[in-house]
Amino acid sequence: MTFSLPPQAEKALALLHDAGFEAWIVGGCVRDFLLGLVPKDYDITTSALPEETKKVFGGYPTIETGARHGTITVVLEGETLEITTYRVDGAYSDARHPDGVSFTRSLREDAARRDFTMNAMAYAPGLGIRDFFGGTEDARQGIIRAVGDPETRFREDALRILRAIRFAAVLDFSLEEATQAAARRCAPALGKISAERLYAELGKLLCGKAAGRVLRQYPEILSVVIPELGPMVGFQQQNEHHCYDVYTHTAVAVDHVPPVLPLRLAMLLHDVGKPDTFFLGEDGQGHFYGHARRSVALAETILTRLRAPRRLREQVTTLVRYHDAVLEEDPRRLRRWLNKLGPETFFDLLEIQRGDTAALAPAYCTRNDRLNSLEKVAKELLAEKPCLTMKGLSVNGNDLLALGYQGPNLGAALRALLDRVLEGEIPNEKQALLGWLAQNDTKNSPERGDNA
Ligand code: ATP
Ligand code: MG
Repeated sequence: MTFSLPPQAEKALALLHDAGFEAWIVGGCVRDFLLGLVPKDYDITTSALPEETKKVFGGYPTIETGARHGTITVVLEGETLEITTYRVDGAYSDARHPDGVSFTRSLREDAARRDFTMNAMAYAPGLGIRDFFGGTEDARQGIIRAVGDPETRFREDALRILRAIRFAAVLDFSLEEATQAAARRCAPALGKISAERLYAELGKLLCGKAAGRVLRQYPEILSVVIPELGPMVGFQQQNEHHCYDVYTHTAVAVDHVPPVLPLRLAMLLHDVGKPDTFFLGEDGQGHFYGHARRSVALAETILTRLRAPRRLREQVTTLVRYHDAVLEEDPRRLRRWLNKLGPETFFDLLEIQRGDTAALAPAYCTRNDRLNSLEKVAKELLAEKPCLTMKGLSVNGNDLLALGYQGPNLGAALRALLDRVLEGEIPNEKQALLGWLAQNDTKNSPERGDNA
């Protein structure tokens, strides 16, 4: 079997081989090659010690990223490449990091410290694949199997539990039975893992093509990563719109939005406030008044704890806040929404509402016809390039200054004009706007200024 490697990887392997060392591409890239996917990066493992690696790449820029763990980053052909010495990890006393690492000259020992059989293979041109643990067959069959005893491996580093189900979601694979049982048993240990590591794996999991199935299959693992999901599991909605409990509804909805992080996170968290807001009405139906607001508060807490970037937190909470808002085709209402959210977020919100609707009881999924037609109307409206913001008005601050408006009154006048334009009462044309101002003189109106 031959794989075509990018020039920087070819070159690094050749330089190390020429210097008398063993060197292989290893890990995720070998797995991806076998699966016919394009690897994201090419990690290299070598028998050369870090000092020896540095010597081999003496003529190239190197960065000592993780020298303690034996990793040297080299810049070759304009690309960075991580080159790591064969290593064995020492004891793990904290379920997170090895107490120390030691270097070895044995590729097999290096492979044995890796997480799953499909991630423990090495490849070099002319030498083919080195597969010590049956990774080729497991990859072919779509099986995620721990290298060695799964419970031991998960107790060493609990993040591997989340990685296992992340790979299951991304590749649409299944966990081998013993690996699966150990993952469930050891799940509480994930509580010790840092937010950054959890967040990175969770994001990949959510954007996986089998995310919904994996969420449904492993609620006990997800509930350690995000404890607020726990109360949703099995929570019956007792409402005719719903055929799933809150957690299952959420998992189904996740699959029905495009695989981009803000949408998937918003879908995951849109109903997280439901268990807190449930009440059984006299009509015998379960209701969740105010759940969107409660979900926003919880989403904010969750995403802050996971150290999600601020911009993403804002995107997600905006979508959660309005996930059940009633959107109408009326152009006046549409312009208001487009003004409030901006077109991009507005269309994201439509995706969220469609995902939410697709996970309702079948009789109610038809609401999506309405959302599709709403999208069409919104696109037609935008094609006319309507004025949706103050900046889009055909008069600006200078025009109003010239008319004698100042300070808060000027801002209030612009806002009043935008309001009239959004309402469709006056066209966004300079003459019309100035004419309206002349008739509705707000220059000397202190109330308007004060309210600004
Ligand atoms: P991706 O394609 O998402 O990058 P990957 O398998 O390359 O997946 P990385 O996090 O880049 O994942 O790790 C590279 C390799 O390092 C893995 O393939 C695996 O061999 C090993 N590895 C990574 N994390 C762990 C871990 N927590 N425990 C054991 N081995 C690990
Ligand atoms: Mg990788």
